[in-house]
Amino acid sequence: MHQNILPDFSTLDVSNLVEELTTILDGNRLKIAELLEQHESLIPGWDSLARPMEDMNDVLEQFWSPVSHFHAVADNDSLRKVYEQCIPLLTAYATEMGQNEKLCAAWKNLPLDNLDQQQQMTVSQTLRDFHLSGVDLPGQDRQAFAQLRQQLAALTTQFANHVLDATQAFNLHITDSEELAGLPDSALALYRDRAQAKNLPGWLIGLDIPAYLPVMQYADNRALREKLYYAYTTRASEIGPNGGEFDNGSLISEILMLRQQLAALLGFNHYAELSLASKMAETPEQVLKFLTRLAESARPQALQEYAALKEFAAKELSLDEIAVWDVAYATEKMRLACFAISQEELRAYFPLDKVLDGLFAIIQRLFAVTFVEINNASRWHNDVRVFALQKNGHVIAYTYLDLYSRANKRGGAWMSDARIRRRLKDDEIQLPIAFLVCNFTPPESGKPALLTHDEVTTLFHECGHGLHHMLTQMDVAAVSGINGVPWDAVELPSQFLENWCWEPEAIALFSGHYQTAESLPESMLDKMLAAKHFQSAMQMLRQLEFAIFDWKIHSTSPKDCSAQDILEEVRASVAAYPVPSWNRFANSFSHIFAGGYAAGYYSYKWAEVLSADAFSRFEEEGVFNSVTGQAFLDTILARGGSVEPTELFRQFRGREPDVSALLRHSGIAVESA
Ligand code: ZN
Repeated sequence: MHQNILPDFSTLDVSNLVEELTTILDGNRLKIAELLEQHESLIPGWDSLARPMEDMNDVLEQFWSPVSHFHAVADNDSLRKVYEQCIPLLTAYATEMGQNEKLCAAWKNLPLDNLDQQQQMTVSQTLRDFHLSGVDLPGQDRQAFAQLRQQLAALTTQFANHVLDATQAFNLHITDSEELAGLPDSALALYRDRAQAKNLPGWLIGLDIPAYLPVMQYADNRALREKLYYAYTTRASEIGPNGGEFDNGSLISEILMLRQQLAALLGFNHYAELSLASKMAETPEQVLKFLTRLAESARPQALQEYAALKEFAAKELSLDEIAVWDVAYATEKMRLACFAISQEELRAYFPLDKVLDGLFAIIQRLFAVTFVEINNASRWHNDVRVFALQKNGHVIAYTYLDLYSRANKRGGAWMSDARIRRRLKDDEIQLPIAFLVCNFTPPESGKPALLTHDEVTTLFHECGHGLHHMLTQMDVAAVSGINGVPWDAVELPSQFLENWCWEPEAIALFSGHYQTAESLPESMLDKMLAAKHFQSAMQMLRQLEFAIFDWKIHSTSPKDCSAQDILEEVRASVAAYPVPSWNRFANSFSHIFAGGYAAGYYSYKWAEVLSADAFSRFEEEGVFNSVTGQAFLDTILARGGSVEPTELFRQFRGREPDVSALLRHSGIAVESA
């Protein structure tokens, strides 16, 4: 029965992909032209405009989703080549649609009276996106707008390339093993492999995170830490070991200037305002106030944490003056001294099957849905597992779990949609399908796959996104699941589910020693919970420093101040410890200069406030209270992007979000307001 519903995900034939995509895009163009012609004499309605558009988008998405999925989890040269040919076709199509005046006019003419709430929200979001694509601009400005976008795309790509090139250009060759004292075997093996790959004796250290981080955390050699820190934090700048070669300094100014122009064309005061046009946060003042309030709450404790670290470093490590390249090193030493627990030790208690059983049991208790494994579905790799999600005996969704790292698979963890829930013309429901992808260490021979607690948290996080996608009750694709949910609210369900990773009653469900099946012993549980808040205020301040910097440079006129000046100003008022002025963090801040987080880095903390406060209702009413679970399902999870998240949150919590839950969960004392 499932085979009829599930797509064939065993292989991907790339031989005709470009032609097939072209056919779909051209077919859509033709159909849209026909629709528009028809609407010259007929007032558009949902069934004559929105539904056929949704059908067209769905065909395109169901074609493209496996392609981008295979590109991420089973890449090869021929697929990559084809993929790169497809991207410009898709971009051109999107720009063309976004600036299609006639199409926009037809949407504007759609009478709202007969539409239900999901449909009305779809119309309002669609019109907003048309506007933000520049469709309302007079001819000359529209062209300028499109040009700015193109220029920005080129500059941000160049920014990312510089960061990558600068990261790869630096390699430190070491031949004396004494210089590497303190480093774990896994890091030494990595450096040795890299040296061998270049026919060098000894070890080769680079600036990518798997190579850089162990030095900062574990190398006893202080001069080595300093050298690496200097190289790392001056990447892509005018100074440092490759100073001037991949300098992003002028790109930063240019990108900020072009963004300002783009925002101005659309009538916004600055780029931060443009960014908020499609987010949950309402005004720039609100965002800045939010970030500042968190920083003020976290700072006193962060200063104490830093003072404790300094004291530890002086007493235990003979570091009388702690430098910025000592912070991570001293932190790891202090963590071990205070809590005597490591992620490696915890692994034995988290075999993957036990974790999955526990995760599914928790979800069942909260939301009354069950996961049933399907063994005969086609899949792209033998390790992939397929599950049907059932409610009252009926299948309501499917999910594919691809959890182990392997060659040709992109790093990191994510949820992506293979198919969206929507109601079809004949009233049939198209069931949602989710891909959940992680990169855990595969099982060694004779042992099951064993996860660290961090990895368990990652699995819960992605599963939270998956539930948002799979438990939606929406019928209109544009607002179904995570579709149409603002960027600063989309991490709510994912961060929300992480909370159960720290609940003793839940931990008992998903832990069990892989040899003895014994649950996590209380002594280890206590240590794990105690270590949860170690330096959490310092960590929060670091994220806030980035978020406030991002916010300030996008809400200031780029001519007024250089990004580096603003960065130093933010550090002076926010950071828990001094950072040298030659630190060029901004020059490699790809999230905001090359990714989607421009004037949006605050989203991480924004959504965390929502998830922490939503969870606090479970703390009040019971972490396994099924009535509370049902309420969360009915409001936050089921409604997708059909209702403003502010309203959904209010419905669930009965009030506005409050930051105190996040502060409490982070172990930061809350002053009574
Ligand atoms: Zn996430």
